[in-house]
Amino acid sequence: MTSTTSGDAPADSADLLVVGAGPAGAAAAAHAASRGMDVILADAARFPRDKTCGDGLTPRAVAGLHRLGMGEFLADRPRIRGLELNGWGTRQRVPWPGSDRFGAYGSAVARTEFDDAVRRFAVQCGARMMSETKAVGAQLIGGRIESVTVVRDGERAAIRVRDVIVADGVRSGLGRSLGRTWHRDTAFGVAARSYVDSGRSRDEWMGSHLELRDPEGTLLPGYGWVFPLGDGTANVGVGALATAKRPASMALRPILRHYASMVADDWRISGEPRSITSALLPMGGAVSGVAGANWMLIGDAAACVNPLNGEGIDYALETATMAVDLLGAAGDYTDAWPAALTAEYGHAFAAARRAAGLLTVPQTVPILGRPGIRSARLMSTVVRVMGNLLTPDDSDVIARAWRSAGRVTAGLEDRPPFR
Ligand SMILES: Cc1cc2nc3c(=O)[nH]c(=O)nc-3n(C[C@H](O)[C@H](O)[C@H](O)COP(=O)(O)OP(=O)(O)OC[C@H]3O[C@@H](n4cnc5c(N)ncnc54)[C@H](O)[C@@H]3O)c2cc1C
Repeated sequence: MTSTTSGDAPADSADLLVVGAGPAGAAAAAHAASRGMDVILADAARFPRDKTCGDGLTPRAVAGLHRLGMGEFLADRPRIRGLELNGWGTRQRVPWPGSDRFGAYGSAVARTEFDDAVRRFAVQCGARMMSETKAVGAQLIGGRIESVTVVRDGERAAIRVRDVIVADGVRSGLGRSLGRTWHRDTAFGVAARSYVDSGRSRDEWMGSHLELRDPEGTLLPGYGWVFPLGDGTANVGVGALATAKRPASMALRPILRHYASMVADDWRISGEPRSITSALLPMGGAVSGVAGANWMLIGDAAACVNPLNGEGIDYALETATMAVDLLGAAGDYTDAWPAALTAEYGHAFAAARRAAGLLTVPQTVPILGRPGIRSARLMSTVVRVMGNLLTPDDSDVIARAWRSAGRVTAGLEDRPPFR
């Protein structure tokens, strides 16, 4: 394979092949290359590329970026203090709780720019990038991946590997070929985003609407968001939770346009929403087959998205670090990787996806939302719990109650997260 149309060099072997250069894969490649490993980072796309997302970075994601060594990247980006929650005629501004582990501010950066920055950082750390290189299968000998077949410029080639990190996103084609199964009987997300021009683009609050209505005024089991991007624009989107039993039947695009018109005055939006795209979100570790002898799935491929707010960039960055920590430490990742994911997220995801499942029942949102949003104290708890911003060191009543809920729920699960 000799073509170099993407400007980066084709290669045929590496200690570590990372498939997918979104935040999960690029962060994993950066960590591994910084530790002296010989790393190839391969992606089917040519960067910069778009990714359907709300572009919101929670304090958890900001902490992940600092750990990666990219904290400076946010220096001139929006500094977001918390959520502006709206619904049933009420507005509550709820600051992020703040903790030593996660800090007290978030941000928002369009993914076209954010993902390219993390990917370029990985290359600076020493990873060898192969763009427009699609992984299409793996050759296994004795249960271990010997090589991964890629297609680049229409030609097939094999990359020999010692280890593979699979970070190929929601659908995880390579993961599926290695046995990954997504279980849609627990809650998953469907969401659409767009970009608008907004006079509040430098706002310090992320807008979130818990009362979402269609053009006829019918209450929908979903939520809306406006995330200011600091460059004269904002990301506006709508999302809903669904399960195989209760699929979200709403047509997202007209609802998104309607929602954008509803918030237009408040967010000083001019013009129509543009670049509308939609996507699914696997959540709460609702996948099995996340590892094999010498491979691990991370980020969306491992369904590491918070079921209560749809954030996944933070978990992408965190699972990247965790996976690289395990490289070489465990001889075989088949059990070690789901065990590591379960230890980190098992209880929180089990409780969150049970709560998310409840939110797919149409009556739940108005019953809880209408009185709930009037209480500043309750909303501050909701933001802390929904954002999974509790740390193991927190010992207050809420933290202890949520941890107990997690333990109990995990014990009740037919199929716990990552199993
Ligand atoms: C509408 C919507 C709104 C969201 N809003 C937010 C938000 O505001 N904040 C937040 O934190 N999270 C949000 N999320 C979730 C977030 O987008 C994901 O959790 C995050 O992108 C996961 O990163 P990743 O690296 O695992 O996957 P991705 O970012 O999807 O990257 C996967 C990469 O793999 C590449 N790839 C795929 N297949 C192959 C292959 N066979 N070979 C080579 N490369 C391949 C793709 O080209 C892609 O670059 C949202 C999601 C949606 C759908």
